[in-house]
Amino acid sequence: MIKTALWLVSEIGEGNIFTKEQHRDAFPGISQADRRMRDLRDFGWVIHTNTDDITLRSEEQRFVTAGLPVWEPGVRRRATSSSISAKQRKAIFAADDYQCVVCGIAGGEVYLDAANDTAVLAVTRRSVRLPGGAVQEKLVTECKRCRAGNGTDEPVDVARLLSDIRNLDETERARLMRWMERGRRGASPIDRAWTRYRRLPADSRDAVFKQLRG
Ligand SMILES: [Zn+2]
Repeated sequence: MIKTALWLVSEIGEGNIFTKEQHRDAFPGISQADRRMRDLRDFGWVIHTNTDDITLRSEEQRFVTAGLPVWEPGVRRRATSSSISAKQRKAIFAADDYQCVVCGIAGGEVYLDAANDTAVLAVTRRSVRLPGGAVQEKLVTECKRCRAGNGTDEPVDVARLLSDIRNLDETERARLMRWMERGRRGASPIDRAWTRYRRLPADSRDAVFKQLRG
């Protein structure tokens, strides 16, 4: 991971594009080089694939910004050592409305593209680059998929995405634009109501439903 970080800084440079092949060629014989690259994300490194940035081709990635200096002694240990208490975990889940902050899925909900894969939420540490440029560690709620850094491998059909977005009504489109600006999905009142409803025991869910229906 350290070698990859140094390679990005010295050979690629922030803002520039590289290919998976270039990365592999830089470290011949090293298995799981891709994984080492993904591990850097835990330390605030921002590396985009074509899922994050539609202007990239599938074999390309962009080194957006460097995070914590993982090559310095102690940096990695400090970032990973202290464990998260159950109380902390509860508070983080509640603050994030029991939703993955990356993809917005709620715990126990089924992924749209995989009928039998349900989301499991966990609290992870993320190094976040603040507007002033400083890197700070934050605890966030993520689902197992986003945590592993592997969303779906389905290629994104940009034309279809754009037409789907254009077909949204004005209010929905405005909300989506706010999420895009913020870089994360926010919970709307309907999301929050749904999440709270889902957390009820089955008989209470039933009671709520019956009450509303009539
Ligand atoms: Zn997720």
